[in-house]
Amino acid sequence: MEDWNTIIEPFRIKAVEPLRFTTSSEREEALRRTGFNLFGLRSDEVLIDLLTDSGTGAMSAQQWAALMRGDESYSGSSSYERFAKAVQGLTGLEHVIPVHQGRAAERILFAETVSSGSVVPNNTHFDTTRANIEHDGGIALDLPCPEATDTQSEAPFKGNMDIGALEAVLEEHKGRVPMVFLTVTNNSIGGQPVSMRNLRAVRKVCDRHGVPLFLDAARFAENSWFIIQREPEHSESSPLDVARELFSYADGVTMSAKKDGLANIGGFLAVNDDELAARCSALLILTEGFPTYGGLAGRDLEAIAVGLQEVLEPDYLRYRVRTSEYLADRCRELNVPTVRPPGGHAVYLDAGALLPHLSRNQFPAQALAVELYRVGGVRSVEVGSVMFGEAAQHELVRLALPRRVYTQSHIDYVGEVIASVSEQRFAISGFQIVHEPKYLRHFTARFAPEA
Ligand SMILES: *Cc1c(COP(=O)(O)O)cnc(C)c1O
Repeated sequence: MEDWNTIIEPFRIKAVEPLRFTTSSEREEALRRTGFNLFGLRSDEVLIDLLTDSGTGAMSAQQWAALMRGDESYSGSSSYERFAKAVQGLTGLEHVIPVHQGRAAERILFAETVSSGSVVPNNTHFDTTRANIEHDGGIALDLPCPEATDTQSEAPFKGNMDIGALEAVLEEHKGRVPMVFLTVTNNSIGGQPVSMRNLRAVRKVCDRHGVPLFLDAARFAENSWFIIQREPEHSESSPLDVARELFSYADGVTMSAKKDGLANIGGFLAVNDDELAARCSALLILTEGFPTYGGLAGRDLEAIAVGLQEVLEPDYLRYRVRTSEYLADRCRELNVPTVRPPGGHAVYLDAGALLPHLSRNQFPAQALAVELYRVGGVRSVEVGSVMFGEAAQHELVRLALPRRVYTQSHIDYVGEVIASVSEQRFAISGFQIVHEPKYLRHFTARFAPEA
């Protein structure tokens, strides 16, 4: 492609969805009604919604067309055939089990492989992965590489696993590790990629210990693109070739199609082991549905089959990764600190550094997220002490970018809102929690502003 500065969205828009503009007094009222919890907002109270990139993407004309082909037969649906072929062609894995979303794949897999005392290492477990392992009595271990903890390091593959630590864990817990997991990209530390070199090293260690390797592949396409950009050996490869090589090292995959499946719902579990597949399919019937639909409609399977191909188009991936880079560049110009380098799916603002006058128990990241909404109707999510309590490592605000939804002008606007909030940042006050539920408090807690 010719070298222009403007990376235009590689699509034109066929169907539009109106945005509703709110007044500042409407937003103020919405904040009071929800107890300053942005999860409580109605979608039409939000102008730009960067709460999550999960299931919020726009489907293509090809995907909408494929929906009409959906075969809703209870068993033996031809949509399943197309879905399974797409997954097999990509992953090289034999048994393809559809599920309604990623965590259902996790629940079924761990129910069959994890029991009390099992240990499952990961570069960093996603929260649902950890919760499902712990639910079955297992121990979920995070083994991120050392660079992962430094938010300002520009290391290219901060998503990597610590190979030495993995060796030690497999020695120490011999016979108790049902599988090793690698999350690509590493969502929990900011969407940072794993290198092919690291993946090969993990595979070698697994082979030496006779332990299977699974990928949590929710963002496999973004990870593939980062490998092409940052690992010279792969700079001439296509995203499809890189993705196929990634999967070639895996004995199994759990996938949320709400991310790099470019679909609004869905996922899958894919494995090579015949016996494990049979056990998982049996459990699938119990809670998700028959193995040729697994909790999805035939039309959903069609949309995912097309999405898995579109997500690997170089023009799409270039635009996708450039979008978060572009927003992070803008933050840098404004001296607003972010987690470096920007991840594939989101930009994380460092609220702890931006609001040094607030201590952790005043929830600086919650205060910043509320302010972005109050000033500009932008919804983000707190990833700090509200979400993780005492275990929080940093006070971050995540701006997650839905796929193919917003254009450059929307992102420019978000930059302007960040600039405005940053200018008055010392006037931002903290929050106290006035109500919290027992579990996962960030979804429903209520807050009161400090005077
Ligand atoms: C979203 C996600 C999941 C869970 O998938 P759901 O579809 O939300 O259930 C698991 N792992 C990673 C890395 C994810 O990003």
